[in-house]
Amino acid sequence: MIKKRVIIAGSGFSGIALSHYLKTSGIEDFTILEKAGGLGGTWRENTYPGAECDIGSALYSFSFAPNPTWDFKWARGQQILSYIQKTADDFGITPHIAFNQAVKSAVYNDDSRRWAVTTTDGNIYDAQFFISAVGQLHHPNIPNFPGRDSFEGVSFHAAQWDAGADLTGKRIAVIGSAASAVQLIPEVAKIAGHLDVYQRSPNWMIPKIDAPEGPIEKTLAKYLPWWSKVRRLSLWCQGEYIVWPTIKGARVRGAILKTLANWNMRRAVKDKALRKTLTPDYPIGAKRILFSDHYYPAIMRENVSLITCAADEILSGGVKGKDGVTRDCDVIIYATGFHTNPFLMQIDVTGTGGKPLTDHWREGAQAYLGMTVPGFPNMAMLYGPNTNTGHTSVIYFAECQAKYIAQWVKAAGEGALDVKPDVEAAFNIEVQSRLKKLPWDAIDASWYKDGDKITNNWCGGSREYRKRTKILTVSDFEQV
Ligand code: NAP
Repeated sequence: MIKKRVIIAGSGFSGIALSHYLKTSGIEDFTILEKAGGLGGTWRENTYPGAECDIGSALYSFSFAPNPTWDFKWARGQQILSYIQKTADDFGITPHIAFNQAVKSAVYNDDSRRWAVTTTDGNIYDAQFFISAVGQLHHPNIPNFPGRDSFEGVSFHAAQWDAGADLTGKRIAVIGSAASAVQLIPEVAKIAGHLDVYQRSPNWMIPKIDAPEGPIEKTLAKYLPWWSKVRRLSLWCQGEYIVWPTIKGARVRGAILKTLANWNMRRAVKDKALRKTLTPDYPIGAKRILFSDHYYPAIMRENVSLITCAADEILSGGVKGKDGVTRDCDVIIYATGFHTNPFLMQIDVTGTGGKPLTDHWREGAQAYLGMTVPGFPNMAMLYGPNTNTGHTSVIYFAECQAKYIAQWVKAAGEGALDVKPDVEAAFNIEVQSRLKKLPWDAIDASWYKDGDKITNNWCGGSREYRKRTKILTVSDFEQV
């Protein structure tokens, strides 16, 4: 049994942010349990060609670790991974990570008021605090297509990229046309013999207008720290004052983004009928707005066919669409998203009186400010329920949570803090009633939802979230 003050599960952006703010609060007695052999979370796992960020690098980075050496305005996946690794090294966090330690369960002991955190290989950590930083998008979802096992070619999920698969000259089917698909399709199209893109629903997509960071920009960023701060602020303002109001239904800003999206499509797609099939029938912002300069040109390539229906069935030699047509292929790439519910899948969490967390979440996940749950003293989450954002950087949210949790750990002292049930319940009612007014609610099924309940997204702007998490209100909790 290894005794620690704080056990953190996961060493992605959230786990590193929390470690940093614990350290700056003088708390060094913590360990990050990382299931894999390396850190980096989603950026370690997603190695598909074209993987890159869809939030500008100056904002998709830690406020405490600006990076003057980004090679592109929208960083590529490999450079983001290197950045996380370097930050963990520079800030003395790497020695706190125990690799290949997948958390299996976390059980609260009412008598000792401590957590027993057990890993899949049987290690038990005795901790005052158990904090999850496992993220929301790491359980690949492949729909249960009839006949999937009968496929005789190569198939894999985008987030489990098969680097050994030779795609050159092959007939390839990509199922899905959202954030992951629009990044990998332009790269795969370059080498495929033929590529079928199964688009069940189109997406609003605005231009990225990406470019390499030139020597002047890199020099400015290196020697003038305010330069990066101004760029960060400008990106934050775009998300907060253009995209977020659009999601809420602001007409003029929505019209501007739609005009940009239409221009993005028109500059590559000259055929009016094809443009129609690529144009969503839902309001801009109701699903994640995508960014790409390369997707529409890829769709126009001679070796690419846009199949405007869902994939329905997998056969030994290909994919059958909802249109009833079977199209042969050698490779299937599933860009079909992730299982995002239940939260903390694969970790059995048990709170006071032996109550499982799944009991509290029977109607869908919820947590006060997305972090704490009544009956689970000294347990918290980063990137927990209702903390995802469709308009800005999740790292901004992770830092808000990390600072809040560092205050909360200090406030608990030697004891245990449990959020008051009425505080959490009132918060959840407020969040859900506000979410009901947003267009995400009108979409039948998305990764934002568990049944009818929006469990993943925050209901407001990031400024509001920062304000509400800036200073811990100790009276929201009771000592147990
Ligand atoms: P996703 O948004 O859940 O998209 C899944 C796609 O699969 C959708 O296009 C969906 O169609 C489609 N699909 C599901 N079943 C299908 C079927 N039977 N036939 C055809 N299509 C089918 O998943 P994702 O693209 O992996 O993105 C998930 C999230 O990851 C994003 O929202 C974003 O937050 C994050 N992400 C971020 C980046 C980045 O740049 N930072 C990159 C990739 C992903 P429908 O739209 O009709 O449901």
